Amino acid sequence: MSALHFQDARAIVFERVRECAAIPATETVPLDAAAGRVLAGDVLADREYPPFNRSARDGFAVIAQDVAHVPATLEVLGETRAGEPSRFNLERGQTVEIMTGAPGPEGADAVVMVEDSVRAGNSVTLQRTIAAGRNLIMAGSEAAKGDCVLPSGVLIAHPQIALLGTVGCATVPVYREPEVAILSTGDEVLPVDAQPESYQIRNSNAHSLAAQVRRRGGRPRILPVARDELDETRRRIEDGLRSDMLLLSGGVSMGKHDLVEQVLSDLGAEIFFTRVRVQPGKPLVFARVGGTPVFGLPGNPLSTMVTFEVFASVAVDLLGGRSASPLPFQQVPLAEPFQHKPVLTRFLGARIGGEYADSRVRPERGQGSGDVAAFARVDCLLVASENRGWWRAGEPIEVMPL
Ligand code: AMP
Ligand code: MG
Repeated sequence: MSALHFQDARAIVFERVRECAAIPATETVPLDAAAGRVLAGDVLADREYPPFNRSARDGFAVIAQDVAHVPATLEVLGETRAGEPSRFNLERGQTVEIMTGAPGPEGADAVVMVEDSVRAGNSVTLQRTIAAGRNLIMAGSEAAKGDCVLPSGVLIAHPQIALLGTVGCATVPVYREPEVAILSTGDEVLPVDAQPESYQIRNSNAHSLAAQVRRRGGRPRILPVARDELDETRRRIEDGLRSDMLLLSGGVSMGKHDLVEQVLSDLGAEIFFTRVRVQPGKPLVFARVGGTPVFGLPGNPLSTMVTFEVFASVAVDLLGGRSASPLPFQQVPLAEPFQHKPVLTRFLGARIGGEYADSRVRPERGQGSGDVAAFARVDCLLVASENRGWWRAGEPIEVMPL
C-alpha cells in the first residue's frame, strides 16, 4: 500500500466513518451541563430579538432629525429604567431620559449619550448630532420570531450557551456522546501513578487522547495498557471494539513487537490505509472492524496528539452527530526562514502568541517527537506542504491553531 497524501487520508476517514455512523440517540441536559455537547435539534427564536427597541446607552431617546442641528434643546417627558415598560410616545421636540437595556419610547429612533447632554429642569440640551438607528437596537433586528438561531449539530461552547439562555432553553437536547475506547500499547508503558524504572515511561498518551476526545464532544474510556504480546493485545482490542470507536497508540511501526496491524487483520478488519505522507505519523492505521472505526496512532506522544487532530478527530465529530468541518488552516507570516525536506507534509508545533505578539509564527525549537516539554509551549501547528522546501521570513505559511 503506498503512502497517501494527508488530505486523501482524511477524505477516506470521512467517507468510511460516515458510512457506519448512525444518528446518535438524544438526551436532554440542563443548560449548565450542555457545554462540550453537540446540539440535537434546531433552536428557534421564541420571540423577536431584541424583543423591544432596546437602548444600548444611558442617555436620551430622540427623533434623530431633532438633533440635526446642535446644540438642540428638547423637552424631557420623563425617564424609563431597564426592566420597566415604556410609557411614552415621542413627538418632535421631545425626549425621554433612558437607561441602557430600557425600552425606547414610541417614535424614537436613536439615543444620544448622557455624556453629550446638559440637563436643566424639564429640558435637556444635546450637543451632538446622531444618525437614526444609533444606540437604539430595533425590535426584531437580530432575529425574527421563529428564526433558526442555532442549527442542530453544533458543538456547544460558551457563545452558544449565551444564546440558549437568551431564548429560554433551561434544558437542552443533545446527542449522546460517542464512547471512544483508548488503548495504549507497549511493554515499557506504565500507568501515570506508577513509579517507573529508568527504562520505563508513563502512559501520557491515554490521557492526552482522552482530553482531545472530550474536547470534540466524545466520552473517553481508557483501557489498561496492552503488553506487546499477541493474545493480550487481541483481548484488549476486542474489549475496545465494544465502544463506538477505538483509538490505539503505539505498536504500528515496523518493529518486531509492533502487533496492532496483525491483530486487526486477524480480527477481520477492513484496513483502509497504513501509511500517510505526514510527519509525524507516517505509520498510521485506519480500519473498521464490523461498524467500528479504529485508529492505530503512532506511539510517540507528539505523533499521537498530532495524528489524532489531523485524522481521528473528524471521526469523533461524525459519530457525535456533528457536521465535519475542514481543518482550520490559516495563513500566517513566518517570523524566520523555514525549510524542510519536501517529501511529506510536516506538522510542527509552533507559536503565534507568546512574548512577541507580532502575529508571526515561530516553530518551537528542539522538538523530537517525544519532546512533550517543547510541545506544551506551543499554541498551533505549522503545516509545511510536501510540495515546497523553503520559505523566507515574512512569507505566509499554513498554520492550524491547537
Ligand atoms: P511505538 O509507536 O510503540 O514504537 O512507540 C514510539 C515511542 O512512543 C516509544 O518511544 C514509546 O516508548 C513511546 N510511547 C508509546 N506509547 C506511549 C504512551 N502511551 N505514552 C507515552 N509514550 C509512549
Ligand atoms: Mg511500542
